[in-house]
Parts: sequence; structure tokens; C-alpha cells
Amino acid sequence: MTTPLPQIAVFSLGGTIASTSDGQAGTGGVTPRLGARELVAAVPQLEGVATLDPVAFRQTASGDLTFEDLVALAGAIEQKLADGAAGVVVTQGTDSIEETSFALSLLVEDPRPVVVTGAMRNPTLAGADGPANILSAVQVACAPQAQGLGTLVVFNDEIHAARYVRKTHTSSTATFQSPTVGPLGWVVEGRPRIALAPTASLPLIAKPSTEETLPAVALLTVSLGDDGRLVDQVMALGYQGLVVESFGGGHVPARMVAALDTLAASIPVVLTSRTGAGEVLTETYGFPGSERDLLARGLIAAGTLDGLKARVLLTLLLATRHDVSGIREAFARARELS
Ligand code: ASP
Repeated sequence: MTTPLPQIAVFSLGGTIASTSDGQAGTGGVTPRLGARELVAAVPQLEGVATLDPVAFRQTASGDLTFEDLVALAGAIEQKLADGAAGVVVTQGTDSIEETSFALSLLVEDPRPVVVTGAMRNPTLAGADGPANILSAVQVACAPQAQGLGTLVVFNDEIHAARYVRKTHTSSTATFQSPTVGPLGWVVEGRPRIALAPTASLPLIAKPSTEETLPAVALLTVSLGDDGRLVDQVMALGYQGLVVESFGGGHVPARMVAALDTLAASIPVVLTSRTGAGEVLTETYGFPGSERDLLARGLIAAGTLDGLKARVLLTLLLATRHDVSGIREAFARARELS
């Protein structure tokens, strides 16, 4: 008797991996056109790996995806898993994978693998990487050793944790890197290898209702000579939270401090680093605008979460009506689990 192949649901959301031209030469650029069915049909090597259940979920550039799309996607993924899928693959544009994969890791309640992938070279180019990425993503989604690792990003034969992965290059097929911890593993000869596993995952967040508009959270990168005038505008513009990508270990120019101090008295302000790796400091520097100064004024340290990921967490916490103490607690847990 032959063992049945694992069933893997494949959701397509658009992006480069799905982008082709309209066939008329010179009429201006590729756009997302292919759905999940066409994407998996282009990878004959999938035969014998899994039984695929393609779902055309969205057809867009990934910068146009919204939190509402992700809440709906998380629900649809859970439904497929409840119906018996062994794992799930999501194909989408790479531009927002570092955010969408992290949001899914906070929203999908199931240990079975959810694997996000995409492509840097569209299907009209020589060496298009979409088919190889879909194949290794499905192989990882089938792998029992990929269970319980939270949402994964599989790209260029590497396996990354959603929590740490970043898009680091505009065009390289090796764009996805996890600068703080490295990849969890890789795929070789079709076999997923998990070399490292996170010690724990961040607590799940209940799916927010999308009946009402989700709260807006601003992300502000601090730069040389900044004076804080944008910080003064944050509440007036209707934002309900702010994530600050600060210098180095958690520092801003002294002349920004007053604005941040005032804002943190009204809405949650989260402190991250613009460096892209490592952890925000909490107890080293004492100058005005240092991490100690800002935390004493009520800013919330994000640990290893970078600005994009901290913004995802803060948005979902606000959307599920966490108050400031609940938000502090959630970020404290995120820091402990770093
Ligand atoms: N350049 C993008 C991609 O890699 C486009 C997008 O994110 O939709 O797919």
C-alpha cells in the first residue's frame, strides 16, 4: 500500500512570482497575473511531493496588501488546516514578506508549517527563481521537523524564521537574511534541514475584527540632525501608536526627547534600532536621548524586533484592544523570548 502524499494548500497573492507581461512587447512592465494553479503547474517536480490545493487569494503588488488581508488570510489558512492540510504555502510579492510572515506567525493558531515564499526574478526572465522557491517551500511545508517553528520564509533554499527575516537587497535572489540569528536551516536535494530552532514563539494574538478600520501605527526612522517635528504631528494625523527606529542601541538626538516624552504620555511609543540587527539596549547609556532616558520617559523597548516587525506587533495589539499595560507586557514577553 502506498502512503498518501501530504496535502498542501498553496495560496497565491500576486507579486513578482506571479508577474508577466501582457504579451505585447514594449508596453510597459510586468504585473501580477498568474494564480496559484498556474504557479504550481509550472513546477512539474512537485509531482510526488504533495497533493496541492491551489487557492488564488489576492492578485496584487505586495505593498498593497493590508492588515485586513492578513487577518482574512490567517482565517483561510486555519480553515485549510482544519480541513486536513498538512501544511500551507503562501506565495506573494517579496516587498512586504518580512511584515506579512511575522503577522501570520502572530495570527495563525496551528503548529503545522506555514511557509511564505516569492521570487526576485519574474517568470519572463532567465533564471526565474519562483519555481525553485515554490518547490522548496512545499518540501518544507510537508516536513514534520518544520512543525511548531512558527511561520517560516523559505527562499533561495534557506529556511528563515518570520520573526527575524529581513529583505536586504533590491534584486538579489539571496535578499532574505536573518542578520541577528541566521537561517534556521536549508533545503538540500529536496530535503529540508532544520539546524536551529527558536526556543519559544511569541504568544498568539486573537484575530482582530476587520469590521472597523484597524488602528494606524506610524514608523519613524531617526536621522542625523532630526529635531522631532514629525513626532509632534503623529497624534494630529490620527496615529494611535508610534514605532521609532532609533540610532544604534536605542538613541535619538537630545532635541527630539521632549516631543517623544509628550507623545509617550498619550499613546504607545516603541523603541527599535535602525541598524537592522541585534537588540535594543536598556541599561547602558545615560545621555539625554539615550535608551535609558527614553525608557524612563515611557517608551517601550522592542528587544530584537526591528521597526517593521515591532509595528506589526503594535498594530495587532492595538487592534485587539490591548491597553498600554497589555502592550508593555507583550513587548516584555517578546524581549524575554529573544
Ligand atoms: N518586487 C516585488 C516582488 O518581489 C513586487 C511585490 O512585492 O509585489 O514580488
